[in-house]
Amino acid sequence: MVLSAPSGGGKTVVRSGLLKLDKKFAFSVTCTTRPRRPGEVDGKDYYFVTVPQFLKLRKEGRLLEWAKVHGNYYGTPVKSAMDVLKEGRIPVMTIDVKGARSVKRLFPETVTVFLLPPDLKTLVQRLRGRGEAPANVAVRLETARAELRVASTFDYLVINDKLAETIREVAAIAGLEALKTARNLEKVKSFSSQLSKKAGN
Ligand code: ADP
Ligand code: 5GP
Repeated sequence: MVLSAPSGGGKTVVRSGLLKLDKKFAFSVTCTTRPRRPGEVDGKDYYFVTVPQFLKLRKEGRLLEWAKVHGNYYGTPVKSAMDVLKEGRIPVMTIDVKGARSVKRLFPETVTVFLLPPDLKTLVQRLRGRGEAPANVAVRLETARAELRVASTFDYLVINDKLAETIREVAAIAGLEALKTARNLEKVKSFSSQLSKKAGN
């Protein structure tokens, strides 16, 4: 599952909420060249890497997708997502809209969710509340214009007003997606083969 939103849209808090709500969700940690913010932990929030390290990972094909956001490189290590899938859990990727498109192209079964704050005033308040300097807020709002232009390409749109409700809605999307026939054909096959065996007896 990919969660995208304008910066300050709630990707990080919604992801934390999902992980707390249900163990079937796991964060697929991505890597970045941006400096660590206070409180962020290497390997938990991001793998913090240098630019040469990032370029090496990219060259070696170890990134599922990558993007340059606000002057820094970001990328999803293939291993990060695959490790979660191997555990039978749902990798939650909180990445930008370009990354979302790349992942969807590579893995069409990915569910993409766009989170949108209820209005601009709320977004600005949340960005300021997170401690972003006015210049940073302005850059993020400018980027948001382009991000909103591609919101229509996402599978789902969730208005992030009340956080608890947003988390429940995103979890509900994952729940319904897991029930899609196309994701469960092996169960039908297994039932059919049991029927065939019985008929053969
Ligand atoms: P993103 O990861 O998309 O940049 P964050 O998850 O960091 O956004 O959210 C930005 C700020 O807004 C954070 O301080 C977060 O706690 C706050 N926030 C996000 N969603 C809500 C919400 N529904 N209600 C109240 N505060 C929120
Ligand atoms: P921040 O620096 O605020 O944590 O993230 C800035 C932007 O980069 C956010 O939109 C975030 O979701 C996005 N981002 C984080 N990791 C990745 C990644 O691996 N790939 C892509 N494409 N974007 C990412």
